[in-house]
Amino acid sequence: MMRAAADCGHAAVDLQPPGDCGARAVAGFRVALGSRSIVMTNDLEYENVVMEFRGRGATVRALDTFNFHVAESEFVVVVGPSGCGKSTLLHMTAGLMHPTAGRVMLGGSIITDPGPDKAIVFQNFSLFPWKSVRSNIDFGLRINGMPPAERNELIDRYIKLIGLDGFENHYPRQLSGGMQQRVAIARSFVMRPRVLLMDEPFAALDAQNRQLMQEELVRIWSAQRPTVMFITHSVEEAVFLADRIVVISRRPGRVKKVLDVTAVAGASHWRMDPFEDVIRRPDFQELRAEIWGLVKSEIQLRS
Ligand code: ADP
Ligand code: MG
Repeated sequence: MMRAAADCGHAAVDLQPPGDCGARAVAGFRVALGSRSIVMTNDLEYENVVMEFRGRGATVRALDTFNFHVAESEFVVVVGPSGCGKSTLLHMTAGLMHPTAGRVMLGGSIITDPGPDKAIVFQNFSLFPWKSVRSNIDFGLRINGMPPAERNELIDRYIKLIGLDGFENHYPRQLSGGMQQRVAIARSFVMRPRVLLMDEPFAALDAQNRQLMQEELVRIWSAQRPTVMFITHSVEEAVFLADRIVVISRRPGRVKKVLDVTAVAGASHWRMDPFEDVIRRPDFQELRAEIWGLVKSEIQLRS
């Protein structure tokens, strides 16, 4: 597998991409191919994507002619009414299902299979209940054949990063929802994925934990900057986190509107500031109201 850290000649443990590695945030990363090297980008392209589910007698068209481009290292948040095809979109991006028509591409190549370069985080954490925190984070690294000493160092670093020192030998059932989701996030980031796919990851958390997790996600993401597709029902969460928000119409899902949050959120982006300060800003509230209006009109259309 092609991995950024290895290509840059640094141990994969560095969270702050040093030297040349930093360049991949804007310019893709270099992959050695014999004596040549190519630049591999981490952008996502959805080209005329249609997804139909055929059941007995009936066919459900979940997505219809979905067209969208996510730039490398961009943080895109997807909102839309229930059943509009958001999860379907993420599953296709993860390589877990294939479109009925059209193409989903990562770095210009059609996505065919799941793999550690496309990490997915679900609402229900989906940790292995019989494995400890440490073993859950270790799982992908071990499968990838990383030597034990390197794995252990990396796991220690991520356990510290998510504030779970002292809990490394606990099992998921012994942890709160927020702690479990931290483990799920660490398990994804430790693999240094090219894209991070998150399907309502904080929906099961209480408001306080949700806020902490949003800030924590921003902190970890800023150091690695994988390309992100993040689904949420919370318009507030979308406006806080996103570079751009894509609003999807009711089923069959299509792009209804794309909103550029970076144009409003300032040069350093308001997600770097405390959430409680940001949500008081009038420009934040205006954008939130606009997006909620768009989503609401799709829900009302249905009823
Ligand atoms: P969302 O995540 O936006 O709520 P989904 O992507 O889960 O929506 O589903 C979109 C539509 O496709 C829904 O009508 C859902 O019932 C249908 N659907 C999703 N997955 C399947 C499946 N595996 N088989 C049949 N229908 C499905
Ligand atoms: Mg869903």
